[in-house]
Amino acid sequence: MRLAPAAFALGLLAVTVLAQAHQEVLAQPPRAVGEAAGDALTTVEIAPGVYVHEGAEALAAPDNRGDIANLGFVVGAEGVAVIDTGGSVAIGRALLAAIREVTALPVLAVINTHMHPDHTFGNAAFRGAGPQGADPAFFAHAKLGRALAVRAGHYRASTSLAMGDAGAGPEEIVLPDRDVAEGGEIDLGGRVLRLTAWPTAHTDNDLTVLDLATGTLFAGDLVFVHHLPVVDGSIAGWLAVHPRLAELSATRVVPGHGPAAVPWPAALAPQRRYLEGVAAEVRRAIAEGTPLARAVADAPEPAAGWVLVDAFHRRNVTAAYAELEWE
Ligand SMILES: [Zn+2]
Repeated sequence: MRLAPAAFALGLLAVTVLAQAHQEVLAQPPRAVGEAAGDALTTVEIAPGVYVHEGAEALAAPDNRGDIANLGFVVGAEGVAVIDTGGSVAIGRALLAAIREVTALPVLAVINTHMHPDHTFGNAAFRGAGPQGADPAFFAHAKLGRALAVRAGHYRASTSLAMGDAGAGPEEIVLPDRDVAEGGEIDLGGRVLRLTAWPTAHTDNDLTVLDLATGTLFAGDLVFVHHLPVVDGSIAGWLAVHPRLAELSATRVVPGHGPAAVPWPAALAPQRRYLEGVAAEVRRAIAEGTPLARAVADAPEPAAGWVLVDAFHRRNVTAAYAELEWE
């Protein structure tokens, strides 16, 4: 794996690769994960060498073990990059088993698109999956490590509440040891992935991965399809990055939730309409002096076609109100 030095020379892309590993592990007492060997996730090859596992459109629950986000991996000549690792170590192991059905090459990089547990709690499954049994490099937005460390206790509690022992929670949360401040490239051997760190949108640590060989964009939760978008960063910030996202030269996108792959940039339109609708409605309520609780209770339902509306719509309106009230 090579991090493109040209990126530094041009000054356009600045990957902060810490010279010394600062792998942090938030340790918990070890627990048995109870994952049967060979229990591989189902994946689909959406483009040559690009594989995606489509997570359930559901909340984390015992029966899905946190398998609720889209996960992917890209195979180069020298090794593999994993993009998001699932909501539990068990799911991470099942993703690694799926990789092993395709290739015996080492996992060179594990990339988290953002901090949410359904995308990060499988990280520990990839320890030792690198060259000669070493750890792969763990890449994420420069703000992810601190944000996830701050929320780790809450995420552990909510994960065990949602999944019980079925998820077998992470016996450890593996934080990134490669911080991406703006952007950079990872070479998997004849195959380059371009990483881009975004300003606060879905969260304050969103990162996208573009496979240059196939024009496949892994958008993480910057793009939701079918599954209602969830605002955990800034609704105004998220809307503001839409034009820049649309400019990315991809032909297909793997959304964080929804189908394994959909055409790009058409996939952005429904999400943009939803977020614009929420922002407009909330701004109107604030301008009219409508209190938060009333604005949330009276919020119009989103357009048909979204799922998990009950779980997330009023929460989004609440978050938008708290943010936009200070504009
Ligand atoms: Zn998320």
